[in-house]
Amino acid sequence: MSIFTKIINGEIPSYKVAENDQFYAFLDINPNAKGHTLVVPKKEVNKLFDLDEETYNELMSFSRRIAIAIEKVIPCERIGMSVIGLEVPHVHVHLIPLQKMEDIQFIKKVTLHPSEFEALAKAISEKL
Ligand code: 5GP
Repeated sequence: MSIFTKIINGEIPSYKVAENDQFYAFLDINPNAKGHTLVVPKKEVNKLFDLDEETYNELMSFSRRIAIAIEKVIPCERIGMSVIGLEVPHVHVHLIPLQKMEDIQFIKKVTLHPSEFEALAKAISEKL
């Protein structure tokens, strides 16, 4: 079972942004930028392009809704999207508020207090 399945099941806590029957969105615990969010299909599949086409399309559509909400909360140039998965073998879309190119590069990280994570997750979920 992946760490993200444990998060979805509530066995590991997370700062939840949104959930429906197919997807779970929550704040990345080691964010590139404030508002960095992960969108995960509940179905545990390792690689993005191994998802069935319908789930893939719905994941993109769900991620779009979340990105639009993040952009309403975090002042930024735009929301960047990245799919890597070299760390956690369970599909996840990174949605990252960008000010500059390096914000998408997983080099510089920001440290947030639990109260900031909580406030961000709440603010984004309220814009959905
Ligand atoms: P990737 O697999 O795309 O290379 O990176 C996995 C991402 O998941 C990283 O950005 C990392 O910070 C995030 N991550 C890993 N474990 C946890 C966790 O337990 N909780 C949360 N919220 N994020 C996690």
